[in-house]
Amino acid sequence: MDTGLKGKKAIVCAASKGLGRACAMALAMEGVDVVITARTEAVLQATAAEIRAATGVTVTAVVGDITTEAGRAAALAACPDPDILVNNAGGPPPGDFRDWERDDWIRALDANMLTPIFLIRSVVDGMIARKFGRIVNITSGSVKAPIAEIGLSNGARTGLTGFVAGLARQVSRHNVTINNLLPGPFHTDRLRSNIGPAAKAANRDPDEMLIERAKSSVSGRLGEPAEFGAACAFLCSTQAGFIVGQNLLLDGGAFNSMLG
Ligand code: NAP
Repeated sequence: MDTGLKGKKAIVCAASKGLGRACAMALAMEGVDVVITARTEAVLQATAAEIRAATGVTVTAVVGDITTEAGRAAALAACPDPDILVNNAGGPPPGDFRDWERDDWIRALDANMLTPIFLIRSVVDGMIARKFGRIVNITSGSVKAPIAEIGLSNGARTGLTGFVAGLARQVSRHNVTINNLLPGPFHTDRLRSNIGPAAKAANRDPDEMLIERAKSSVSGRLGEPAEFGAACAFLCSTQAGFIVGQNLLLDGGAFNSMLG
């Protein structure tokens, strides 16, 4: 399938590793020039070099914290008129809501709700004017099936989901789509670090432990980031223009439901 994306420009946030990296790689494989961001320069530059070598597209690495105004401004300066925006940032820490103060909530809202909204605000009118835009927000399966220990994530991401459900329907007539990708367990550093304390306590290798746990899941395995990236590239394709305001769960069937 020709996705029609060759020569388009994308900003992919938080993309030196994991799901963001996979989205950047998949878009680059379709011929999209990508701006990728992350806070750790060495890892980001290494990823940029890998994507360049694998695809031959222009890859611009922008070092910065995307949850800050300066980080967002730097990404937008590198690509002021993107055709594609993939919103992503780290997830908030787990814990008990009794321990979370106002500042904890504000940090979670900044990272997982307000940052994507402000980036969308910066790019959506240009997309409308050019009659093409694809915005994909990386959220979480926890938006559909809340995970008690990550209440900060459940709350902040649901706020984003609610907001974009409305906005998506205000911009789709201009061939600008906004959709969310909801990861279940994917084989990334985030998942490794979540299981880290348990693996350490049991003197086990985190990867082995993750795979062992995944064997008892519905699909018997973790998701691979490349599968996530491919879904993102399809949502960004020219063919996906009638997919509007959707929440696509990629969890190997873990969410048990007849209606998705
Ligand atoms: P990951 O493997 O840890 O990668 C996170 C990436 O984001 C890294 O490139 C990191 O680089 C960058 N990043 C983090 N915070 C940033 C910030 N403030 N500004 C710029 N870049 C930032 O994580 P992942 O598994 O891909 O997860 C991506 C998102 O999906 C997270 O929000 C996570 O909570 C969510 N999620 C993941 C899973 C899963 O199974 N993996 C499941 C549900 C939800 P630097 O640290 O150098 O900035």
